[in-house]
Amino acid sequence: MTIDPAALDTSAVAELCAALIRIDTSNFGDDPRTKPERPAADFVVDYLRGYGYDPIIIESKPGRANVILRVPGSNPDLPALVVHGHLDVVPAIREDWTVDPFAGIIKDGYVWGRGAVDMKNMDAMMLTVLGDMSVRGWQPERELIVAFFADEEAGGVWGAQWLVDHHPELFEGATEAISEVGGYSVTVGEQTVYMLQSGEKGMNWLTLSASGRAGHGSQVNNDNAITKLASAISRIGAKEWPLHLTDTVTALLTQVSELTGLPFTEDPDDLAALVAALGPAAPFVGATLRTQANPTQLSGGYKANVIPGVASAVVDMRPIPGTEAEAHQTIVDLAGEGIEVSSLVTTTGYEVPFDAPIVGRMADALLADDPTGIIAPYLLSGGTDNKSLMSLGITGYGFVPLALPADYNFSAMFHGNDERVPVSALEFGTRVLARFLAS
Ligand SMILES: [Zn+2]
Repeated sequence: MTIDPAALDTSAVAELCAALIRIDTSNFGDDPRTKPERPAADFVVDYLRGYGYDPIIIESKPGRANVILRVPGSNPDLPALVVHGHLDVVPAIREDWTVDPFAGIIKDGYVWGRGAVDMKNMDAMMLTVLGDMSVRGWQPERELIVAFFADEEAGGVWGAQWLVDHHPELFEGATEAISEVGGYSVTVGEQTVYMLQSGEKGMNWLTLSASGRAGHGSQVNNDNAITKLASAISRIGAKEWPLHLTDTVTALLTQVSELTGLPFTEDPDDLAALVAALGPAAPFVGATLRTQANPTQLSGGYKANVIPGVASAVVDMRPIPGTEAEAHQTIVDLAGEGIEVSSLVTTTGYEVPFDAPIVGRMADALLADDPTGIIAPYLLSGGTDNKSLMSLGITGYGFVPLALPADYNFSAMFHGNDERVPVSALEFGTRVLARFLAS
């Protein structure tokens, strides 16, 4: 008798997700408020050991823990697949939520808490599927390199990027990877569309430093660092970046146009209507039509009557893949004389083939559960750890399958208040993930 991988017991996946949420792994970057991933890594390792696996923990620095596990495939001729999640989450402010963001509450059919969609949901789905492989004795077709990374929310410096730089051998033999953010459903008209992520924009976090002449606030000063910085930041914030439709975005909008009958032209109104037709996914897709650069931090000065000698700001820029250098130069030009521009964290964007066999397997796994669905590619406006793996020649896709209610605002959940995920979506995703890994 053959085992149907999708017939696994999914009844514990919601509680597993909630248990991971209860381990606060808030990532404030290099700030001492950061809560290291180690306790969550220990939880994952204990879980996996309970099913007879032998995972390893690798710390990039004390407490910043990554978990790695290799699982043999039934077909040793196939290259390995990396299946990864991250253990850290962005911080949450209790007052902004209707529930405690770290209580891991399950109510009204949802798991609530920081990490419910980003991405302790996938961590829990991965663990559930691995547990089932052990209990019912089935194997993935490809060898798996299962990774639970630290520090994704601060660019992976102590997580995926660190492992790629210091332990590339961990990923030897892998050609492809799956992780966040894709495989979720949106409703376009009456049609359920599963959005498979097949590319990411670049990322460039820039510091702008203005220096001028310090002095008394009552005196004439034509070289005020704050004034210079404010002008530069306002030029950058107001910049209208040109439309730049990549192959992935063009393919997606063509599909939306066919489904809705809306025209696909370069007219801004037509484009806005196509993007809006994607409902909750619109904020993800709307940010992929062009490069974006948002000023996000400002600092300077320490007293009302003192003109400071320096002032600084941070800009979060997300360039269209392939235009990273050009976009950086545009910021330097907009900043102008007397402002030093430097990069804090940069990553290069990418697009990967949508006609690859692995995409066909993702589609088959999804459509076996929802035969009326269709799939579409999209470019992610944010970044994931897939970018770090790209430097090892590993092609990354976003595949965290979730069948979502039409009125559920998925994109608002990411780093948002009252982050939550439907229990039914977790169970669906676990079945699809099992079916995908077996195929
Ligand atoms: Zn994430």
